[in-house]
Amino acid sequence: MRKITIAIDGFSSCGKSTMAKDLARELGYIYVDTGAMYRCVTLYALRHGIIDTDGSINLLKLEAEIPNINISFKLNKETGRPDTYLNNVNVESEIRTMEVSSHVSPIAAIPFVRSALVAQQQKMGEEKGIVMDGRDVGTVVFPNAELKIFVTASPEVRAQRRYDELKAKGLEADFEEILENIKQRDYIDSHREVSPMRKADDAIELDNSHISITKQKQWLIEQYKRVCGK
Ligand code: C5P
Repeated sequence: MRKITIAIDGFSSCGKSTMAKDLARELGYIYVDTGAMYRCVTLYALRHGIIDTDGSINLLKLEAEIPNINISFKLNKETGRPDTYLNNVNVESEIRTMEVSSHVSPIAAIPFVRSALVAQQQKMGEEKGIVMDGRDVGTVVFPNAELKIFVTASPEVRAQRRYDELKAKGLEADFEEILENIKQRDYIDSHREVSPMRKADDAIELDNSHISITKQKQWLIEQYKRVCGK
């Protein structure tokens, strides 16, 4: 059967990764969480004193360090999902903390960071058979993707989901802080100069504020079948 490229973009915390992971598993496709890649660069920058306490970023140092930031994904046999590795160390939990969340959007707005990560993402998808989620997958990384979905949900619904996710992992969580962070990231992500988040003209929009995960899964499979002509 012909393999296609599936791009799932949209706002933070609207369940893109869950739907992308599940779809990839169902189809036997590779799954790539591009947000995790921007989070890895942010974690590295925080750990190496590249981000100052006032939030300012040492651009020269970060640019020089980019070749030393190696990001990969390995399947976690317990969860059946891929974990994110930074320089061969599993950082799946560390990259989801509020500290990383609150610095990631400025890092992701830097042009040399984007070009380095986009090049890696395009390489990962060379053979097709991939589901990639992010903000610019359908517009920049794979503008020719056969299936493009753009996911939205209200900020409050998204904040609640992120809150539940952090709590389930036993991590610190404050609803108001998460909501504020989500709104801030939405703003920076959609107003930056390079590859701002936007729905590709040929993407299908899905507002999943009030749809169950099961319904969403069925809908997604229908979209896949429609594109593949089955
Ligand atoms: O998807 P997630 O919320 O983990 O992404 C974290 C951040 O990474 C986003 O808020 C955005 O700033 C950045 N990002 C991006 N482009 C992507 C994926 C994520 O700019 N393709």
